Amino acid sequence: MNLVLFGPPGAGKGTQAKRLEEAHGITQLSTGEMLRAEVAEGTPVGQRADALMKSGRLVPDDVIVEIVGDRLSREAGRNGFILDGFPRTVPQAEALDRLLASKRLKLDHVVSIEVDDEAMVERITGRFTCANCGAGYHDTFQRPEVEGVCDACGGTEFTRRSDDNEVTVRERLAAYHAETEPVLRHYEAQGLVRKVDGMAGIDEVTRQLEAVIG
Ligand code: AMP
Repeated sequence: MNLVLFGPPGAGKGTQAKRLEEAHGITQLSTGEMLRAEVAEGTPVGQRADALMKSGRLVPDDVIVEIVGDRLSREAGRNGFILDGFPRTVPQAEALDRLLASKRLKLDHVVSIEVDDEAMVERITGRFTCANCGAGYHDTFQRPEVEGVCDACGGTEFTRRSDDNEVTVRERLAAYHAETEPVLRHYEAQGLVRKVDGMAGIDEVTRQLEAVIG
């Protein structure tokens, strides 16, 4: 099964993708995570992307399409993939159509996680993760059971994304409305779009997702 998870920053694409990955053995392909790895390694792509990401703007389409193309080649023949954070522009969606056709792959569903923007600012600015195992937390909605200790692995160091501050989040939401929202129409025309209520709790969103892809 090949899926796209669609929605603004903070909608829960990454959280839900990780759950689907565990439940169905399909691979999460997050362009944001790929770019953060490039930045951390200081590669030429990372050096180009760093300032754009810090300011909440999109990385150029050609850079992203090349990264995704490499990864998709490795996924062909496996159980399937979940695209998280890609495609983010109509040209990226068109490039993806061509990439998939060339590898004789196709998308089964594009799941749109529907949320209110204002709630996204609070969700994103409060989130943090365990530096050791990557478990996700939130200042208001999901604190560790023991303050300062990861519930999952006992780690005591946590990290926050440098682009998860209010100014950058507002830029990211603006980029979403201007450049990413039109992508939904591209897939509506292909009859691939299914909607879930992203304002529901995490487990309920997973239940709705399983129902629409099942
Ligand atoms: P994310 O982890 O999906 O929130 O992505 C973090 C940042 O990486 C975004 O704000 C963009 O700067 C960049 N980025 C991730 N995916 C894409 C994409 N498909 N196209 C352009 N920029 C992207």
